[in-house]
Amino acid sequence: MGINTRLIHGGISWDKQTGAVNIPIYQTSTFKQKSLGETYGYEYSRTGNPTREALESLIAELEGGLAGFAFSSGMAAISSVFMLFNSGDKIVLPDNIYGGTYRVMENVFKRFGLRAVYIDTTKIEEVEKAFEGKARAIFIETPTNPLMDVTDIRRVAEVAKRAGGLTIVDNTFMTPYLQRPIELGADIVVHSATKYLGGHSDVVAGLAVTATEELKERLHFIQNSVGAVLGPQDSYYIIRGVKTLGVRMDRHEENAMKVAKWLRTQEGIEKVYYPGLPDHPGHKIMKGQADGFGGILSFRTSTPQLALKILNGVRLITLGESLGGVESLICQPATMTHASFPEDIRGRLGIDDCLVRLSVGIEDADDIIEDLRTAMGG
Ligand SMILES: *Cc1c(COP(=O)(O)O)cnc(C)c1O
Repeated sequence: MGINTRLIHGGISWDKQTGAVNIPIYQTSTFKQKSLGETYGYEYSRTGNPTREALESLIAELEGGLAGFAFSSGMAAISSVFMLFNSGDKIVLPDNIYGGTYRVMENVFKRFGLRAVYIDTTKIEEVEKAFEGKARAIFIETPTNPLMDVTDIRRVAEVAKRAGGLTIVDNTFMTPYLQRPIELGADIVVHSATKYLGGHSDVVAGLAVTATEELKERLHFIQNSVGAVLGPQDSYYIIRGVKTLGVRMDRHEENAMKVAKWLRTQEGIEKVYYPGLPDHPGHKIMKGQADGFGGILSFRTSTPQLALKILNGVRLITLGESLGGVESLICQPATMTHASFPEDIRGRLGIDDCLVRLSVGIEDADDIIEDLRTAMGG
């Protein structure tokens, strides 16, 4: 079955008890037992809840993995995955990564002895070198946030596998509609379902998918022990969001391409970072590993004043953190999403006051462009 069909009918998509076409919201913390030691399949909602399970089976199927796990946020999913490792283990990460992932690694997991190495994961030699240094895993985002660097998932997974390490991919920007890292060799996929999967800026949620039985057992143990689970109501919202993911992603991408092409013709816009543009350095790799380029782009203005003018001048586009909602969202990574990065790293990467990130929504592209034009002052 095609991906659009699976978005709607994948996993446990209807209620076997009543025939309800939507999985009910099982708003319960605990479950009655038939007799001592004999259950109806569930015991306690931290361990398992039917609505959450419907979402978990759906994301596992969409990502082509063995098991899915739903968490209370993307950060809860990522943190739970980091808990698979032991004190002293070395984890490789991209040097431009989601700010929250950097923050939790540097300020929480380092205290428990995890050792993080930040490299340019687009350079396979750097990945090889990191694994020669006995890394246990590599955690990648592709494209990266906010510079839209593209990493070759197949090659990274090969290097990691050869060294006996795990490949973990944060697939938030692409979603399984456009990119399925497990099919390319990854072991674990994580998501901030807050973004495209939910799609309507109304839920905070996280997901993880494992490719093997062993990882499934270990991550389930952590999910149940640590308990950062997604509630039944929010699980329902994510399931509902996923049903329209295909049509939304198609429009996000169509609009992003139009906005990217328009932006690069504008005076004062020095650079547009969008992998859908044929001259983007990651364009070819992305064509080989994804079914599209998504709806996020960044751009660099010639002066910080122009960036400020745009950020404060937009009316239709919302100034705010987050991305992947139906509405266009704009932000300045240096002061917002990536403020927890040390200034020297930000400076080296070019995450400065001239860099603007735009999550292109599904409004009419002409209106988005008009809003940017007006904000830029003509
Ligand atoms: C938002 C985001 C996260 C964190 O997810 P939350 O749901 O906000 O906890 C992680 N990775 C990426 C790429 C994100 O965009």
